[in-house]
Amino acid sequence: MVIARTIEELQKAKEGLQGSIGFVPTMGALHQGHLSLIQRAVEENDHVIVSVFVNPTQFLEGEDLDAYPRREAADTQICERAGVDILFMPTIDQMYEPDELCIGAPAIRGYTLEGQKRPGHFDGMLQVVMKLLNLSGADRAYFGKKDAQQLALITQMVRNYFMNVEIVPCEIIRDEKGLALSSRNAYLSSEEKERALALSRALKRATKLVMAGEHNTETIKKEMLDILKEADRIDYAAIVDRDFIAIEEVEIGNTIILVAAWVGKTRLIDNVWI
Ligand code: AMP
Repeated sequence: MVIARTIEELQKAKEGLQGSIGFVPTMGALHQGHLSLIQRAVEENDHVIVSVFVNPTQFLEGEDLDAYPRREAADTQICERAGVDILFMPTIDQMYEPDELCIGAPAIRGYTLEGQKRPGHFDGMLQVVMKLLNLSGADRAYFGKKDAQQLALITQMVRNYFMNVEIVPCEIIRDEKGLALSSRNAYLSSEEKERALALSRALKRATKLVMAGEHNTETIKKEMLDILKEADRIDYAAIVDRDFIAIEEVEIGNTIILVAAWVGKTRLIDNVWI
């Protein structure tokens, strides 16, 4: 596996690759969720590039940019073992110049839910994903449904800008108790980890209600909010269609149920696709 820290090193390493390229962009502190994307990329492509870059432009003022877990040695070992060809770990100055041209998140989809709670986050996310997709030259790029709105926006960016890459959505990986894996789970104490289960429990309850024939989204949200009380602060419990428009009735095959809540100082998100 080649470790590339500059654009030049990445381009040079890519010259040696023949056949299809799968790409998995991450912010590192890799866990089984990331690994599932990497493994799928390895299965479906001749070569795989993984990036580890904690992107400053997608963090808002006061968010956890400095505290975000960084585990370069462990990440390198995980990628090496998984059969990754190139691990791209650029510095900030490799990725940005001072006066950048920016693309913005779309007015509706980009400013609801996560976009409303974290204004500007998606602009920075799309900016870096555009750069990384272009640099990787990938045929396919793998993203988790865990970040459902991010996935929808990246899919839209690729469509709107006629980018020549296939975006592959991947299932959410959870621990044995149901907690969706996240690098931010490292912040949780064991007591907080228990209470963090409120998110997946709320989603499970919602799914059960839908399966039992309850399709009224207000009724479902009320029950979810009741379960989410175990968290310290609820950002939202939402039921939207696959275009992220709020809906009154669940439509099987076109619905995403999402939650965002704080446990202690940690902000967690989770969702289920119905
Ligand atoms: P991050 O390092 O948090 O930016 O995540 C990198 C990629 O891994 C994104 O596409 C995420 O959606 C995906 N990902 C993170 N956690 C999970 C998980 N628990 N299951 C599946 N994919 C995940």
